[in-house]
Amino acid sequence: MESSQHTLKESVSLSGIGLHSGYKVRLNIKPARANNGIRFKLIGRRQSMPALVDRVIDTSLATTIADKDMVFSTTEHILGALSGLGIDNATIELDAPEVPIMDGSAEEFVRRLQSANRKTQQSKRLFLKIIKEITYEEGDKKIRILPHNGLRLSCSIDFAHGSIQNQSYSIDISPKSFSTEIASARTFGFLDQVKQLQDSGYALGGSLDNAVVVDKNGVMNEEGLRFKDEFVRHKILDLLGDLSLLGYPLLGHVIAERSGHSQHFGLMKELAAHPECWQIVELNKTSKKGGMLRKKTASSTRKTGVHRRSFWSLPVSSATPSPATV
Ligand SMILES: [Zn+2]
Repeated sequence: MESSQHTLKESVSLSGIGLHSGYKVRLNIKPARANNGIRFKLIGRRQSMPALVDRVIDTSLATTIADKDMVFSTTEHILGALSGLGIDNATIELDAPEVPIMDGSAEEFVRRLQSANRKTQQSKRLFLKIIKEITYEEGDKKIRILPHNGLRLSCSIDFAHGSIQNQSYSIDISPKSFSTEIASARTFGFLDQVKQLQDSGYALGGSLDNAVVVDKNGVMNEEGLRFKDEFVRHKILDLLGDLSLLGYPLLGHVIAERSGHSQHFGLMKELAAHPECWQIVELNKTSKKGGMLRKKTASSTRKTGVHRRSFWSLPVSSATPSPATV
């Protein structure tokens, strides 16, 4: 875990299609000053909005955030890429209200962000450190966070389909592990569901170029899977992206069983309601002891309320996500 904040050395630009809207979208990711956090804005407008959990308005098909007259949907993959690479401060500019889906994964975002290089900033990173286990449950879906010195994500899925079935995956997140093991895992859907969605005006930009599609015979994409457990790896990407809406990098072990965007949101809401389960901390410098490098440990200095990106600054009732359907 790095103790200083990071941004990009230079801006990156790319374009793609919005999965649900079908719009062609241009996207710029620009460097930002320390303590800016990740913000979204429309190209040509001055106003921007922070990518924070209290702005979530919908979690049904993807994670959508809104503020005043601004709405941005399908935020999770680009946020996962920024979080996975340890980029704390950046402005995401779009010319449409949906982040382009690219190939259904975060691979292209990661490739472009890595080519722009990271820049270390003077300010210290503040972390949201879990000090007491917290659980959120919704039917057979369950997600919890345990104290952990670092960020570990464990996901399991259970689909009654021969191509997916039970899959589980667990990973300590670092820029290296994220970019090699998680970033290229694509979103997925079942053919009959995709058809239903398109009939209802969603997934209009969806195709075998930007999702793994499964029918009764198996994976329809000619090139097959990128990992045999690509499905659960993609769940890790979604989880990481959604958790970045906390506004602080997380220190904890998240264990998610059959969960999706709605349960990720439920867990964050539960965290907001239980401040005794976490602290906002910064990392101490490493020191040598007995000839061995001691691990960095988080200080217990509580800084809640003094930091600009305070966790859940609006009343909980202002965020009203709808239940997950996928
Ligand atoms: Zn996803």
